[in-house]
Amino acid sequence: MSKNIKAIRGMHDILPQDSGYWQYFERSVERILGSYGYREIRMPLLESTALFKRSIGEVTDIVEKEMYSFADRNGDSLTLRPEGTASCVRAGIEHGLLYNQTPRLWYQGPMFRHERPQKGRYRQFYQMGVEAFGMPGPDIDIELILLSRRIWQEVGIKGLTLEINSLGSADERHRYRDELLDYLSAHKEHLDEDSLRRLHTNPLRILDSKNPAMQDMLEQAPRLQDSLGEESRQHFERICQALDEAGIDYRLNSRLVRGLDYYNYTVFEWVTSRLGAQATVCAGGRFDGLVEQLGGRATPAVGFALGMERVLELLREDNPSCGDAKIDVFVVVLGQRALEQAAVLLEPLRAALPDQVIQMHCGAGSFKSQFKKADKSGARWAIILADDELDQARFGLKNLRQKAAQESLTMTELLQRIKNS
Ligand code: ATP
Ligand code: MG
Repeated sequence: MSKNIKAIRGMHDILPQDSGYWQYFERSVERILGSYGYREIRMPLLESTALFKRSIGEVTDIVEKEMYSFADRNGDSLTLRPEGTASCVRAGIEHGLLYNQTPRLWYQGPMFRHERPQKGRYRQFYQMGVEAFGMPGPDIDIELILLSRRIWQEVGIKGLTLEINSLGSADERHRYRDELLDYLSAHKEHLDEDSLRRLHTNPLRILDSKNPAMQDMLEQAPRLQDSLGEESRQHFERICQALDEAGIDYRLNSRLVRGLDYYNYTVFEWVTSRLGAQATVCAGGRFDGLVEQLGGRATPAVGFALGMERVLELLREDNPSCGDAKIDVFVVVLGQRALEQAAVLLEPLRAALPDQVIQMHCGAGSFKSQFKKADKSGARWAIILADDELDQARFGLKNLRQKAAQESLTMTELLQRIKNS
């Protein structure tokens, strides 16, 4: 017999026992984002390969080795999106959302990267991203950082640390790049294979290296912050000041550079020590050059994306009950006629109590065994549909969490009783 077909490595099913956490988180974030005036945008999973090459940059990890790209039946090169910002900007330009406007957008959904799967790192993973366009000042950078903190606070995730840095303007960054290149070239003997490869293509990324053997040398490298001009410095200081005022602890990390090419000015990450090597749960920054780079009119932009799997791992530890499935009302069904009519009889109840989870017992079963199930379900109420009571249009109701006797009620009375509880 042939072997069973399994899911593709690094791609996971989200099972019913886990989906409660996803829903809790997604609903919470939707509500929070809505309350800050952000609106959802949904983009296709497939885009032209050229979009990512042009936006993310040819010499990034993503474009060099992580993209799922293939030729479709027409021979066009398509790519399963590895991130959402490029698509969001593409859609913004295509539909004229970005000019003379200040849209605040968010998206969420699966992203695809061909990486080595491990805890917190998958080939299909989910991101929730937020992007704000048309606003050059530090006020919106501040709003986004505060908004990300509000998410952790409201869903109940504890102990994340904010790291922040400024990459300066494109000019300042290029000047710094040369300075860094000189320094790294003079210390070539300390560079590992990966870093040697990046030396002339993306030297800033070398700063990000976690290789212990390179840390001393990197600590001595020239610092980006020292080559910032007055304007960049002010933008950054305003942000740090606001973080102080908001009581957010942060760490200035001069080696925080981000893997994507399109960032300038502010970059930030929320990190944790609880997920091993996969420490970053949320990463963002300013990308004022991207809209123009993709063929639109120059438009300032800033955003962040959070990795849902990593966030949910923390959520599960910090707020374990938030994903529980709950049942409010368990319906016990006794007798042949009750069995035949139950589903239909419950419809008015469902219509009147749309927020309650009402679960009906299906199939036969003794009074005792059904009540056992009702109790185990965690429901607060049991409704009893029994042949003899149905004849008089009456229904049994029992509060499973109190020592109260079962009552016999009309539908109206029963509704009132559950509604008022
Ligand atoms: P990393 O350094 O962990 O590879 P990255 O710089 O590639 O992250 P971004 O492209 O900035 O990550 O994506 C934003 C967030 O999405 C990350 O901080 C992380 O939480 C999450 N993320 C990125 N890649 C993966 C992946 N393969 N599996 C799960 N989550 C991921
Ligand atoms: Mg990566």
